[in-house]
Amino acid sequence: MERDEMPCDVLFVGAGPANLAGAIHLMNLIEAHNEAIADGSKQGEALDEPMICMLEKGSEVGAHQLSGAVLDPKALTELIPDWAQRDDFPVERYVEREDMVFLTEGGSVSAPWLPPELINHGKPIVSLGRLCAWLAEIAEEKGVNIFPGFAGNDLLWDGETVAGVRTGDKGIGKDGLPKDTFEPGMDLQSPITILGEGPRGHLSRKVIERHKLDANCNPMVYELGCKEIIELPPGTVEDGYVLHTIGYPLDAKTFGGSFIYSMGGDKVCIGLLVALDAADPNLDVHAELQTLKQHPYVKDLLGEGKVVKYGAKAVTIGGWASMPQLYTDGAMIVGDSASFLNPLRIKGIHLSMKSGMLAAEAAFEAMVSGDNSAAALKTYKDRIDASWVRKEMEVAKNFHANFSGGLWGGLVKTGIQYAFGPGSSLEPFTADYAHMKTIADYYGTAEAAVRPKPEYDGTYLVDKLTDVYHSGTMHEEQQPAHLKVVDTEVCATTCKEEYGNPCTKFCPAQVYNMRPNEETGRDELEIDFANCVHCKTCDIRDPYQIITWVPPEGGNGPEYGMM
Ligand code: SF4
Repeated sequence: MERDEMPCDVLFVGAGPANLAGAIHLMNLIEAHNEAIADGSKQGEALDEPMICMLEKGSEVGAHQLSGAVLDPKALTELIPDWAQRDDFPVERYVEREDMVFLTEGGSVSAPWLPPELINHGKPIVSLGRLCAWLAEIAEEKGVNIFPGFAGNDLLWDGETVAGVRTGDKGIGKDGLPKDTFEPGMDLQSPITILGEGPRGHLSRKVIERHKLDANCNPMVYELGCKEIIELPPGTVEDGYVLHTIGYPLDAKTFGGSFIYSMGGDKVCIGLLVALDAADPNLDVHAELQTLKQHPYVKDLLGEGKVVKYGAKAVTIGGWASMPQLYTDGAMIVGDSASFLNPLRIKGIHLSMKSGMLAAEAAFEAMVSGDNSAAALKTYKDRIDASWVRKEMEVAKNFHANFSGGLWGGLVKTGIQYAFGPGSSLEPFTADYAHMKTIADYYGTAEAAVRPKPEYDGTYLVDKLTDVYHSGTMHEEQQPAHLKVVDTEVCATTCKEEYGNPCTKFCPAQVYNMRPNEETGRDELEIDFANCVHCKTCDIRDPYQIITWVPPEGGNGPEYGMM
């Protein structure tokens, strides 16, 4: 098959905050280099007309971005010092008042003070989608070529060196054969590929596996965050209010918490994050979010509102302990794909941006020297180690391990480590899926595991399918499912028996359904892949590890916009 080829100097995969910051910083470095060559203050050759490209699988930049985004602007200030003075900076509000509350069933206890890590006073509240769209405009003005609607499907290899990316074919039918609309994917050949695909990156995983880049770290671990934007009656939103909760509806063995903060206009967002190593095979974060909204403390704040937007996404929470080797021949990994998040602060955008900028510095040096080997790109990691990123992340390296025994023990251990330092040892932990218990072990009997069917009102309390509608997700239905289940016999037999088909609960978009099949006379798995919001939870939490998420046709998926 003939494919179009496009040679690039540097190829960024994913238009999230890490790569956008990296691309802008790279263009600044190239511009400064060329000016210095031109005025004679530097020896060498100018980097004329550099071909810096960026792929984005969403229909537009920002479409797949979702975060609880009270932004630490540290990296942004380094990149764009006058961001706050720019009229077009997409701030929703600035934080003015913050609370932290422990919720019990029906009650609440306010924290007398906030841990310093959670204090955000004066920081901007942003929509990550809008922030990325704003950064993309700046990157494009500087000459970066951004291609939205193109998913990176495969890595190109030159021996063991990453040599670029092949985008996905478009116009493949459900039967796997080309349709009339078939367009083969394109080969973007690049000596330097920077992978910033977000959590559980499809290509990042391939390069990590092939080069065993995770041989010396803990596995990547995740939370699932479900987030809604709620519109309240006009004039009732408190400007710049941020609330963090822990406790109800989660039990003390399930790690997680929620955030509520005011956005622009009459909108407020609420999000619930729950660790995907939860033992409960029935864990359903979307359902827990609806339960949280019925708690009197939360209902008091939001109960008059209606849900207008929804999204869900996995969040990396292993932090420093899960960070793989960040570079290999021809490639670097940045942002969430490389575990750049501080679980203590539940913040990662600033770390992701800085990782992209430091990878850009290594890429710039490689462009000048022509050396794209792992030995040359190692300067990216050296820069991370010498920067505030390491200082901030390393102290929280045992945060995830601390909570493996439950909330209270975790709080005590984390408090001690905060006061006296984390020590030199890196506490081990295992992958999320290994922690799910069987129905028999967790509930005793199948009857005890049955949850009462919740009653939702369709506006404030909504079911999954209504929320899928709010996510704006769209997929071309005449294409192969992008959720690859290697053995559906397991679903109909062993999994049903042992775990009660947990994918039908943990998927926050009701993609997986066990439905009666007349031919076999039993319930069989049906995959409504068009609902998928690309959160990657199934790939992470499936106890048999037989589900793999791969990118669907470029441009498909959620339309998060203001999330
Ligand atoms: Fe998330 Fe998987 Fe459900 Fe898609 S199918 S929404 S990736 S859990």
